[in-house]
Amino acid sequence: MRLTRYFLPVLKENPAEAQIVSHRLMLRAGMIKQSSAGIYSWLPMGFKVLKKIETIVHDEQMRAGHIPMLMPTIQSADLWKESGRYDDYGKEMLRISDRHGRDMLYGPTNEELVTDIFRSHVNSYKDLPLTLYHIQWKFRDEVRPRFGVMRGREFLMKDGYNFDLTKEDALHAYNRHLVSYLRSYERMGLQAIPMRADGGPIGGDYTHEFLVLADTGESEVFYDSDVTDLSFGDREIDYDSVEQCQGVLEEFTTKYARTDETHDEALFNEVPQERRRTARGIEVGQIFYFGTKYSEALGAKVQNQDGKPTPVHMGSHGIGVSRLLGAIIEASHDDKGIIWPEGVTPFHCGIVNLKQGDDEADAACNQLYAALTAAGLEPLYDDRKERAGGKFATMDLIGLPWRITVGPRGLKNGVVELTSRRTGESVEMSPEEAVKKVV
Ligand code: ATP
Ligand code: MG
Ligand code: MG
Ligand code: MG
Repeated sequence: MRLTRYFLPVLKENPAEAQIVSHRLMLRAGMIKQSSAGIYSWLPMGFKVLKKIETIVHDEQMRAGHIPMLMPTIQSADLWKESGRYDDYGKEMLRISDRHGRDMLYGPTNEELVTDIFRSHVNSYKDLPLTLYHIQWKFRDEVRPRFGVMRGREFLMKDGYNFDLTKEDALHAYNRHLVSYLRSYERMGLQAIPMRADGGPIGGDYTHEFLVLADTGESEVFYDSDVTDLSFGDREIDYDSVEQCQGVLEEFTTKYARTDETHDEALFNEVPQERRRTARGIEVGQIFYFGTKYSEALGAKVQNQDGKPTPVHMGSHGIGVSRLLGAIIEASHDDKGIIWPEGVTPFHCGIVNLKQGDDEADAACNQLYAALTAAGLEPLYDDRKERAGGKFATMDLIGLPWRITVGPRGLKNGVVELTSRRTGESVEMSPEEAVKKVV
């Protein structure tokens, strides 16, 4: 992409309304624009990152054997009345009535809708296990929408639902989700720690939240510092293997890590003092096994091996796709701007032409652009007639992992300059070498 042909409305000034760095940087880098409280337009560069995150989530869900679909944003209230949640949900639910006076709502989550689909089409244990998921906009009329996309009212969520014959099978589904979530966050360059969460009125041990440590996080967390040494890495996993998935769950959840809701001071004190940490975290996902709560309420039953109708065991599993943009920036920035992890960067490499209009510099930039594109990368070429300082500031702000700087002086010696956004290190090399490094 050439910057002169793109739409990147960068702000020079710090927007007054932004209280935290990710919100400030997303506004300054022209990624989002608020349309009303907690509701945003995703400008081209914000949209691009959102899509990258979505792609990673899809990829890892499908790898785990979960099936993508799409349910609507607007739902009829009938199913929610059937499950009993229409009254329980309270003011967070945006209630709408259509022209016929029917009660509708903008879905804050989808347990009812997906259970209705299931009960309409699945009758036998032979069709299980089944996990359906979608990535769809949700609406929750949050009391205090704030921090940009971090706590929006309209936000993008991946929500998946498993249907299993037995509790045992459903816990395997739970573990598959845990593994696939670990993999997803790592691909986004994030460490998200599974922490034991509060099962709410249903109770039980079977819910974990994934938290990214950040001072601006809204949850207070308590953990054994050993958990921050864990990483899934590029190991192979067989998602059908109960033992393997259980093994990962144990590895990642045995050490103490809890949010304030489930924090247990006595247990925490058993962690050696020097490893006890109290910090703040951003919830970027949650997995939940809730048994037959919705299947009983909505009559989602299958015939078991003995031909007896049995309510299915379910769980629901969410990832805050749009919130992740904020979380990634909170975890990866400096005072000049964003530092995108390679996995989610909107463009792989920036090209800065120090003397736009100079035949040689222009030709070298065009060649670099073509070579990077041919290598399957997406460069962003700053081809504006602007001062070098302004171009560098823009590149630093939008945080692409690499910048290649091209100017007549370097070209005389056959070199361009390659700069890493993360380390700030600049090295001169031939354009060919620079392309090789970036790829
Ligand atoms: P929170 O505790 O932050 O209100 P939640 O526990 O109510 O979140 P879940 O129902 O677990 O949210 O939804 C799954 C994921 O969706 C959350 O882990 C979070 O990442 C994301 N999410 C929830 N509410 C919002 C919101 N208002 N804006 C952006 N993302 C959200
Ligand atoms: Mg909430
Ligand atoms: Mg929560
Ligand atoms: Mg939650």
